[in-house]
Order: sequence, then structure tokens, then C-alpha cells
Amino acid sequence: MNYDTEAIRRDFPILERKVYGKPLVYFDNAATSQTPRQVIDEINRMYTQEKANVHRGVHCLSQEATASQEATRERVRGFINADSVEEVIFTSGATESLNLVASSYGQLLEDGDEIILSIMEHHSNIVPWQLLQSRKKVKIKVIPIDAEGRLDLDAYRGLFTDRTRIVSVCHASNVLGTVNPIKEMAEYAHSRGAVFCVDGAQGVPHAKVDVQDLGADFYAFSSHKMYGPCGVGVLYGRRELLEKMPPYQGGGEMIGHVSFSGTTWAELPYKFEAGTPDFVDISALKKAIDYIESIGMDRIAAHEHDLLVYATEKMQAIPGVHIYGTAPDKCALISFLIGNAHHYDTGILLDRMGIAVRTGHHCAQPLMESLGIEGTVRASFAMYNTLHEVDEFIAALTRVAAMLS
Ligand SMILES: *Cc1c(COP(=O)(O)O)cnc(C)c1O
Repeated sequence: MNYDTEAIRRDFPILERKVYGKPLVYFDNAATSQTPRQVIDEINRMYTQEKANVHRGVHCLSQEATASQEATRERVRGFINADSVEEVIFTSGATESLNLVASSYGQLLEDGDEIILSIMEHHSNIVPWQLLQSRKKVKIKVIPIDAEGRLDLDAYRGLFTDRTRIVSVCHASNVLGTVNPIKEMAEYAHSRGAVFCVDGAQGVPHAKVDVQDLGADFYAFSSHKMYGPCGVGVLYGRRELLEKMPPYQGGGEMIGHVSFSGTTWAELPYKFEAGTPDFVDISALKKAIDYIESIGMDRIAAHEHDLLVYATEKMQAIPGVHIYGTAPDKCALISFLIGNAHHYDTGILLDRMGIAVRTGHHCAQPLMESLGIEGTVRASFAMYNTLHEVDEFIAALTRVAAMLS
């Protein structure tokens, strides 16, 4: 069966849009992906047929809404191959998932303990650990990268001491595209008695993820970057660790019994889900997973890889274009600059030609500093992008490069 991009595109209503009278070329998928009709229809169905607060209700609608939400939990469990649904916690996004780990697992750390991060982390996998430093005297160590944008694994191993408790790195960089060797890194961390947390915001949308095979103790991601609704994220956590961790927030749903003389916590995963969850969007997330699986993650990955290779080759032929991140194993995004031109000017000019790219530091200021730049322009691809769109982008970029040099 051929990969039918045109059929896929018909499922994404927004792709019919024009900007400034030109067909939209949407290359900002690493910031958020677009949403297929199947997901939008499910959100609509929930609001028109099934909106009732989950868990608390004896009535029919509440039970249906609960079933819809919990069906997604099972769907996510299978999608990432978690051992049980108790290990799948719903959050508001990858950011909250990482804050949960830093805050709650962080409670178990002691003064003098050490945390290993990498220079290519998104702010959401840096700042929560720095917030922990205001409560505990923990030390943060940083894995450097080589010239191609790969983590320096010798340096990584050299950072460990007998105080290293947790490593937290991204599955793939949202700036460089580098896919990190998580399995190998997690194995080493475990051999040194540390746990391994993965920021999977750019992992899950682009390749099949098996948390057990990877050896991830925690794995965080966002629904909106994988064709699902906004407002929902997932934290996978290994049961044994989740059981040891204190709750993240207090409120309804996360308790066993509340009394002013002492309160007990609910069972997993509810211990970490205080308050009314975004059950409408959680319910609709399973439709995004259905959609991805109806096409096949391997085929999506292969298609995106074709776009990446094709676009990279064409961009390298444009005078003045410099690409940041040339690791052999990359997810489908390309960061670049044109000569000394400001990233913002390039972004504005491309936008006027109907091409949506992102410019700036991409929430990775430490990485920018290490590269000696302020920001980049980033083109990022998804399952519905086409070689024809890459051609449009290359034609526009060629014009922009001539204007700015
Ligand atoms: C987008 C992103 C995040 C944060 O995701 P939110 O959906 O904003 O919570 C974290 N890490 C990486 C690598 C990202 O690309």
C-alpha cells in the first residue's frame, strides 16, 4: 500500500487554509502538530453527548465519560508498551509531567545528591530541576555535545559519581533533531544505580516508543505534538518508583480519605491526578493514537525521513544556509541560519510566502549559548507534509537567501 499523503491531508481541515492568499505550508510541527477530523469529532461528541465529571458520578453520563477517559489510558499504555495502566498518569503536558518528576521524585533526594541533564534540553527539562535546588542542595551536571550535535557519551559516563540519583534527557532535541541513544544511556545509568527520565515530547510523535525496551523509568510527552488535543500530557512512571513518590498536588480525586488528623492517598495513577482532569481532551487523545496506528508509525517515520533527507540536501545547495544539527540519527526537523541574517527576518519573509516556520531560541537558551548564537529558524515536518511543500519551501528560501545576503 502506498503512503497516500493526499488522503491523509484531507483528514486535516486546517491544511485547506490559505495565508495571505497562498496555500499554507505548515512546517512548525515541532511546536504543535495539526489535528485530524477524527480527533476534532471526538471532542465535539464529548461536548454534545457525554460531558459529565468523571469518577464521582453514579449517573449514566458520568460513567460513560469515565469509561471514555479510562479507555484512553489503556490505549496510551499499549501505545508506549507500559506494563500497566497504573503507570500512565494524565497531566496537562510534557512540561507538567517533567515538573511532576522533579518535584515529587525530587522530594526523595537528599542534600549533596546529583542530577545529570544535557546541554540540549528544553527549558521544561531544566527549570523544574532548578526549582528543586531552591528546596534541596542538589547538584546539576550537564552532558555536552559534539560538533554534529550528538551527546558526548564519554563525558556522560564521566559525570557519574556515587551521588548520581537521576538522569533526565530528551529522546530527541527540538532544536538539533538529534535522536539520543536512550537505551544505551539508561542501561549505563542503571548500572550506576541512577534512575532515567526521558523528555519524549519529540520522541513519541516520530517513532515507535517502547518504554520498557528503552529502559525509561519516566517518560513524558504532550498530546498536542502527536496530532492530539491541546491541554493533555502523559507521564509514564515505573510503578515501583511512583509508589515511593509523594503526591505532586493535593485536591480531589488524589485522596484515599481526608481528615484534619491526617489524609491518605489514592491508589495509582489517581494519586498523581488531583482535581478534575481534562477528560474531554484525554478522551479524544485515543483517536489520535488510532489515527497514527491506522497509518502505521513506521511508515510515518519513513515518510518524515524522506522529507528530512530531501530538504537537507536541497538546503545545503543554497548559498549562505548553515544547518545546525547534523547527527546521523535525526528526527524530521532542520534548524538553520542564513549567513549573518537574523532568524526573525528569515521567518517573517518565509511567512509572507505562506511558509510557517519557527524562529528564536526554541526554549533552549543554554544550547543557543553553547552554539554561540541567539536563535535559529526551524522547519519541522509531520506525516501530512509533502515533497511538493519542501520544493515550495526551498524556492522561497532561495529567494530569501538572495534578499538577505
Ligand atoms: C515542546 C517540548 C516540550 C514542552 O512541551 P509542552 O507541550 O509545551 O509542555 C518539552 N520538551 C521538548 C523537547 C519539546 O519539544
